[in-house]
Amino acid sequence: KNYTREDILRMVEEEDVGFIRLQFTDIFGTFKNVAVTRSQLEKVLDNECMFDGSSIEGFARVEDSDMYLYPDLNTFEIFPWRPQQGKVARFICDIYKGDGTIFESDPRYVLKKVVDKVQAEGYDFQVGPECEFFLFHTDEGGMPTTITHENASYFDLGPLDLGENARRDMVLTLEDMGFEIEASHHEFAAGQHEIDFKYDSALITADNIMTFKMVVKTIAKRHGLHATFMPKPKYGENGSGMHLNLSLNRDGINVFSDPKDVNGLSREAYYFIGGIMKHMKAISFITNPTVNSYKRLVPGYEAPVYIAWSAKNRTPLIRIPTAKTAHARIELRSPDPTANPYLALAVCLEAGMDGIRNEIMPPASVDTNIYRMSKEERDAIGIEELPGSLLEAVREFEKDAFIRGVLGKDLSEKFIAAKKKEYRDYRAQVTDWEIKNYLHVL
Ligand code: GLU
Ligand code: MG
Ligand code: MG
Repeated sequence: KNYTREDILRMVEEEDVGFIRLQFTDIFGTFKNVAVTRSQLEKVLDNECMFDGSSIEGFARVEDSDMYLYPDLNTFEIFPWRPQQGKVARFICDIYKGDGTIFESDPRYVLKKVVDKVQAEGYDFQVGPECEFFLFHTDEGGMPTTITHENASYFDLGPLDLGENARRDMVLTLEDMGFEIEASHHEFAAGQHEIDFKYDSALITADNIMTFKMVVKTIAKRHGLHATFMPKPKYGENGSGMHLNLSLNRDGINVFSDPKDVNGLSREAYYFIGGIMKHMKAISFITNPTVNSYKRLVPGYEAPVYIAWSAKNRTPLIRIPTAKTAHARIELRSPDPTANPYLALAVCLEAGMDGIRNEIMPPASVDTNIYRMSKEERDAIGIEELPGSLLEAVREFEKDAFIRGVLGKDLSEKFIAAKKKEYRDYRAQVTDWEIKNYLHVL
């Protein structure tokens, strides 16, 4: 897409758009928006729409809180679920400060900066996500529960799959909005689903992930269901991941592919894996940014625990999916959908590029079942674990100056402070588990 101002004016006119939403993402990955009526369109296109940045977590201080939203014209989209007269459209926006300079801690800018730098080195970063989520019932008051009345599992179909209608509606809506949906299916746990859309350049994919989550939640609600991207809503059941399929193009050609290699991968691809593995613990803080994220990364639920890669196993941290050479890629399986996609893709790309720039060879692949190895066996071949909690992750992030540098000083500090607070608050809770295990015997 390459919309001009005239294209936008024409589409708004022809489609009878009544409202325009200006969207952006806060540092924690929450989509925010302000709505204006069509009468304000010229102002929007002239980058004159202002908001109070001090009210957005992690944004401006109170003293210089006036911020501007600059619409990215190519993100213009009409919401198909809104009325057909006086339609609602949106732009995803970049954020500028009152003095007209870019706001450096805008997550979208963080990703843009990394993408531009890598583009100057000749590469275009391609990402295809696999978003998983649960559909739960709401109670009489409309509040979300963790209850589902279905018993379906992987690839099951209706009537066992009660979310089937909602999921189809999500897919059709996404297609209306220009998504190319590659697959959608029931996932392993009861009430769990996955919808996969086609890979694209990193910035487009990050925008798409934000739009995707909004659509899934909106359509679920219209079916009387609550969609949640919480990584581990239920103890004892699989959690929801957001696997990322990563590759690099040069002049439109995939450079991860080498048909002569046993795994079909080029040296660049191996170095990329090497870089990701080197920084993996710090990356986890960004790709798995909540207390709950670490409840998912435990053995037994198809989520990774150890820092290793494999072309044979299905569930290591990094997997090499069998692929037609045109789309050779690596699949990173630890990220979950609570990650801010802009920041997550930025740290993955920079870590991978660190591997390429410094020719970091990854350790040998592990094709046996790591979960059956003893600690001694793992230590002997140097297999380390992902952080076990948000606290461990934040400490790894603090130690890794390279990954912190991707976010920049200001954003890193804000993120660290907020996440330490989140962890402290969680740590002070007394959980059901403690009552059950301690109250009677202690
Ligand atoms: N739900 C699993 C996870 O937590 C992944 C299942 C799959 O392989 O798609 O990552
Ligand atoms: Mg899946
Ligand atoms: Mg996968």
